[in-house]
Amino acid sequence: MPNPRAYCSYCGRLSKRCACHEAGSNLQRFLERGGRSYAPCIRDAPYKRGVPPQVKSAERRHLQKKYKIWYAALAESNGECCANCGETKDLVLDHVLPIAKGGSSRLDNLQLLCTTCNRIKGKLAIDCRRATHRE
Ligand SMILES: [Zn+2]
Ligand SMILES: [Zn+2]
Repeated sequence: MPNPRAYCSYCGRLSKRCACHEAGSNLQRFLERGGRSYAPCIRDAPYKRGVPPQVKSAERRHLQKKYKIWYAALAESNGECCANCGETKDLVLDHVLPIAKGGSSRLDNLQLLCTTCNRIKGKLAIDCRRATHRE
């Protein structure tokens, strides 16, 4: 029986309201760039919502302060390429769990993405790092 309190791990919506599985959704476009196919990913609690603006700006400031160090650490451990599509140009640090969903600026919540993947990902929570580590 489907769990009525099941939330999509990507967008954070209740599963029944989630459109991630639909063709052409941002999640599908993102996964296609990485040559991955969609598999539902469920969590039993919603993400944080309404993160206060002062928390968001503090997280962004903290990221800027550590940007170069963390960028170098990720490039060193995972290679200097997009964790999703493998692109090696125009890379940015991306929050796996976006700040708006309660994610924080810490190395273990960051991955390198190209600007295109980063833009498509938007506020979705997508962890590309495990796939990278498997290879
Ligand atoms: Zn979803
Ligand atoms: Zn990419």
